[in-house]
Amino acid sequence: MVDFLDLRAAAQARREELLAAAAAVIDSGWFILGEQVAAFEREFAAYCDAPGAVGVANGLDAISLALRALGIGPGDEVIVPSNTYIATWLAVSHVGAIPVAVEPDEATYNLDPARVEAAITPATRAIIAVHLYGQPADLDPLRAIADTHGLALVEDAAQAHGARYKGRRIGSGDRSIVTWSFYPGKNLGALGDGGALTAGPAIAADVAMLRNYGSARKYEHELIGYNSRLDEMQAAFLRAKLPHLDAENERRRTIAARYTAGLAGTGLILPFVPDWAEPVWHLYVVRHPDRDGLAGHLKAAGIGTVIHYPTPPHLQPAYAPMGLGKGSFPISERIHREVLSLPIGPMLTDGEVDQVIDAVRRFG
Ligand SMILES: *Cc1c(COP(=O)(O)O)cnc(C)c1O
Repeated sequence: MVDFLDLRAAAQARREELLAAAAAVIDSGWFILGEQVAAFEREFAAYCDAPGAVGVANGLDAISLALRALGIGPGDEVIVPSNTYIATWLAVSHVGAIPVAVEPDEATYNLDPARVEAAITPATRAIIAVHLYGQPADLDPLRAIADTHGLALVEDAAQAHGARYKGRRIGSGDRSIVTWSFYPGKNLGALGDGGALTAGPAIAADVAMLRNYGSARKYEHELIGYNSRLDEMQAAFLRAKLPHLDAENERRRTIAARYTAGLAGTGLILPFVPDWAEPVWHLYVVRHPDRDGLAGHLKAAGIGTVIHYPTPPHLQPAYAPMGLGKGSFPISERIHREVLSLPIGPMLTDGEVDQVIDAVRRFG
């Protein structure tokens, strides 16, 4: 048996540190917006080379609050990838704006800058790039397009903690507005829900208010805010895990390299990494025209796989009112039909990786 992702083993490996983190919070008697959250915000910002970080309740809220801080709302259009986890679209809908989908570069699965320009209208206010599967999107051309048209560029880095673009960490630089999720299965995962925004001081200050009832001082409310706080317990767990993130990402890199070498010449389409990208391998995604056959074959061999994702956002019932039927985004639809994520995670052993490789190689 090879699990797709063994979260239990990952938690067990850090059991003592996590228990100590929990004890510190219990003994402090302070559970919301205290020193654990403040310290995690400093430590995570430093890790990302970011000007600042604000902890929030989850990755979806991080995107919504970033859009609110940018003043985006009803009547505005926001460009999103046609192939992303639905959260990217939902955040746009939650602020009352319209998600306008753009097809990806089929080699990298990330937003194709050449197609973004064609989707811009007078109502466009922002572009959300997603660093899908832990691979950085091509940020420089996206930034240039955003600047030419006076748009904000927001990065959904829920799958990309620690990734680098042209040597720079995702989240670095005074201008980046980046959203993070600490859902347990992400590269940096809490033991529950969590999220963050990294950004410069103006956006960070607004999101810090928005997450806490629109308030910077108790009982003074400047904005129509939310309750979307990272809690002290999750912040303490994240502080315990952050120092291990680089080593865990390095392990993922080793696993990815082993897959890429072992699966060469199989007829599968393997991940493509541009020379400017340093991915963190949140997922190792392969493609095959008979994806369901391959998944069934691996299941019979005791190997867990997952499809990221089976149905694109525009074909979900939630977005049926937009009237984007089958065939609206053919590249994305083809990707959704053919992708399969192989087991990857910091606890996976070389022996397990080799079992997966052997099983894939035996697939007709
Ligand atoms: C996980 C994820 C999110 C949402 O994060 P939550 O913390 O689950 O709300 C958003 N975007 C992408 C690309 C994700 O993978």
